[in-house]
Amino acid sequence: MAYGSYLAEFLLGKGYQVFGMVRRSSTEKSDRIEHIRSRITLLQGDLLDQTSLIEALRESHPDEVYNLAAQSFVPTSWNQPVLTGEFTALGVTRLLEAVRKVNPKIKFYQASSSEMFGKVRETPQNEKTPFYPRSPYGVAKVYGHFITVNYRESYSIFACSGILFNHESSRRGLEFVTRKVTDGAARIKLGLARELRLGNLDSKRDWGFAGDYVEAMWLMLQQDNPDDYVVGTGKTHSVKELCKIAFSHVGLDYEDYVKVDKAFMRPAEVDLLVADPSKAGKVLGWKPKVGFEQLIAMMVDHDLERLKTQKPQK
Ligand code: GDP
Repeated sequence: MAYGSYLAEFLLGKGYQVFGMVRRSSTEKSDRIEHIRSRITLLQGDLLDQTSLIEALRESHPDEVYNLAAQSFVPTSWNQPVLTGEFTALGVTRLLEAVRKVNPKIKFYQASSSEMFGKVRETPQNEKTPFYPRSPYGVAKVYGHFITVNYRESYSIFACSGILFNHESSRRGLEFVTRKVTDGAARIKLGLARELRLGNLDSKRDWGFAGDYVEAMWLMLQQDNPDDYVVGTGKTHSVKELCKIAFSHVGLDYEDYVKVDKAFMRPAEVDLLVADPSKAGKVLGWKPKVGFEQLIAMMVDHDLERLKTQKPQK
């Protein structure tokens, strides 16, 4: 999980002993935590496996648990709706059960998502806005949100749900649109690609910097009482604007390179997602620091740097 690495850095900075839970896989992929690998302890565990979660908590004795794990890519959730539900919905119950059994005093953070608002009932969206998810992923996240609320109310567990709007960074997976565009612009600039194929250019999102958002998550667990918070910037941009900023940062016009491809369109789209983060501002004293243009420029620069040793296409 891309922003798990920002959370780990943030908690190390606060003097925490940090454990990360990883799933066993035949290809280990840990480049996002390479720079802090020697300062954190990795435990094996899997949201599909109840026993492994109980064991991970017994071994690490945590005061706080942050559940950022999920099958988190929306398009994949249409291809694998049941598996998405197992990880993203039931996985939350398994982890909450582990907390309840091992030590119900553990504070718990659940990564909820703006995708729960989907076909939005009001704009901007706050903690009281009704949910209307538009993908199997969104549906699974609604379950995760309410099971977190339910364990708080049923067992007095200090469980918080952070309803995070899109959080981006240069560690974001290349399949997500921000990173796909910053990587694409950098490749085209360096002569490594000639075009960039995208889906719906008119869709809009409230995009913020992942590094800012992990602080809000931590702040939720430092309050006197557990609660739910919307975390976002309150500003919205289209995919088109994203392209314009990324390409002009490398001195190019996106209209010369971006092609619309039906393959990247979705069976159902969410509407205008935009956060009303005023409760997080008032109660947590949180506000985002990095603006959209700065975020995209940062990501393009990172991709240019990463790709500059590759050979151009003939
Ligand atoms: P999401 O909000 O978690 O679904 O984040 P994404 O980054 O995957 O998608 C954000 C928006 O960009 C969605 O409305 C997509 O339809 C739109 N989009 C347009 N073209 C693309 C593309 O090529 N890839 C992805 N992932 N999204 C695209």
